[in-house]
Amino acid sequence: MVQSLDRSQGRAGGVSAGAIGDHGTFTGNRALQIEEPLIFEMGQPGRCGVDLPEPAKVKDRLNGLRRTGEIGLPGLSEPQVVQHYTRLSQKNYAIDMGVYPLGSCTMKHNPRINEKVARLPGIGDLHPLQPVSTVQGALELIDRLAHWLKSLTGMPAVAMSPAAGAHGEMCGMMAISAALEARGERAQRKVVLAPESAHGTNPATAAALGFTVKPIPANDRGRVDLTALKAALGPDVAAIMLTNPNTCGLFESDIVEISKAVHAAGAFFYCDGANFNAIVGRVRPGDLGIDCMHINLHKTFSTPHGGGGPGAGPVVLSAALAPYAPYPWIVKDGDKWRVAEDGAKVEGAPLGRLKAFHGQMGMFTRALAYIMSHGADGLKQVAEDAVLSANYVMAALKDTMSPAFEGPCMHEALFDDSFLKDTGVSTLDFAKAMIDEGYHPMTMYFPLVVHGAMLIEPTESVAKEDLDQFIGTLRSLTTKAKTGTAAEAFKAAPLYAPRRRLDETLAARKPILRWRSSNNPPETDPVKQAAE
Ligand SMILES: *Cc1c(COP(=O)(O)O)cnc(C)c1O
Repeated sequence: MVQSLDRSQGRAGGVSAGAIGDHGTFTGNRALQIEEPLIFEMGQPGRCGVDLPEPAKVKDRLNGLRRTGEIGLPGLSEPQVVQHYTRLSQKNYAIDMGVYPLGSCTMKHNPRINEKVARLPGIGDLHPLQPVSTVQGALELIDRLAHWLKSLTGMPAVAMSPAAGAHGEMCGMMAISAALEARGERAQRKVVLAPESAHGTNPATAAALGFTVKPIPANDRGRVDLTALKAALGPDVAAIMLTNPNTCGLFESDIVEISKAVHAAGAFFYCDGANFNAIVGRVRPGDLGIDCMHINLHKTFSTPHGGGGPGAGPVVLSAALAPYAPYPWIVKDGDKWRVAEDGAKVEGAPLGRLKAFHGQMGMFTRALAYIMSHGADGLKQVAEDAVLSANYVMAALKDTMSPAFEGPCMHEALFDDSFLKDTGVSTLDFAKAMIDEGYHPMTMYFPLVVHGAMLIEPTESVAKEDLDQFIGTLRSLTTKAKTGTAAEAFKAAPLYAPRRRLDETLAARKPILRWRSSNNPPETDPVKQAAE
């Protein structure tokens, strides 16, 4: 619910009756959960946490454009600022606080050695415009990571610069588009096939590049329907975009046959590698016949994400697509490293740049630290433990929740909502009740092919006793839901969160993107407007 909170009297003045945060306390706070106003609603004009000297008098060259009014910065002391941001940070659930079972996102622990390495002098204070002679080690680091990514995937080339998974998809599909163009077939091959269970970014990428997206149905085993796929292949198909393991948490067991059929039809095989965590060190996608695949460093290789950490989505490429890789890449001339970014000096037909500078250096450093601290054997164990954890969750819950598909899963356990049938409790209610139990909900309503989907990805980094408590919580909620008399209690959840249920539709349709003070209110009241 978008509501306005009357803060005109200040926090200690009490929050108006009925407003969010009205817990019957004088302050509006609930135990040590503190109601936090916006920073612009705090403080006193003129107060300042620092003692700055008067600016030197200089000749005004702004030609009458000098600001005359107040800049409007909140007047706060240092402790007020520190407390404000600390309190906000404590409202933000994080992987460092507990189980984060968000399927498809691979919210795994980010080892502290990564952070230590990323802050080393010479890495933490690098600037991308430094002379190349002063960043030889950094360029070697990028090259080493590239080497690992090529080895782990069994692919001959990698474009390092894409900034996230979706950006990597864009890069790979642009390379495919360029390769088709070079064959004189781009105009004819307009269709990209994507399974119905695909992550939304796959069809979005294809559509953004001007392809027509054709969905391929899944069979009753949650895999791509091979017959339907073969029937859809033809001289108009540019590529298939397939995730493996797929977003139902299942290995596409026909993948080699899919790859052969796609290539026989003259199309390319784009593999979405966001779920690489489930197979890293065990399967090389190159051996399965893929042409390109993005790797979400921020998932498989642990660099922090969610809550604002940057991503990194390098794309491995086959020999056929490598000539179209974007700038820049790292080359070694004799014993000197350099950045290839000049068309006159490279072979092939590079796409140009997708991004400023060289890629996400901080993420490269963390990913390489993760890879090197695990080694090849450790990475294999990552995949094995991730799959074991998910199957443990699946096995422990399958008698009381309803698995979407039969048989073992890969790194994610997928349930549908049939176990909630006739209870009056929906997937959303169930997820909200988890919040009261101290758990971030799993991924809900995705993949779309499964009704009321609940996708749980525990990852390899949760201890068994923590998994057991998580499982115990879900069993207890399931039992409560199935009594058939708990629907109201579920609909009221979460009771203990700083905010209850938000009207997400209203927030998306009528976002309030500009803060206004109480003496400068918005022209229209969005709540009233929505009601109209
Ligand atoms: C996370 C994910 C993506 C997108 O990656 P971003 O880094 O969020 O852009 C694409 N496909 C799948 C299957 C994913 O899980």
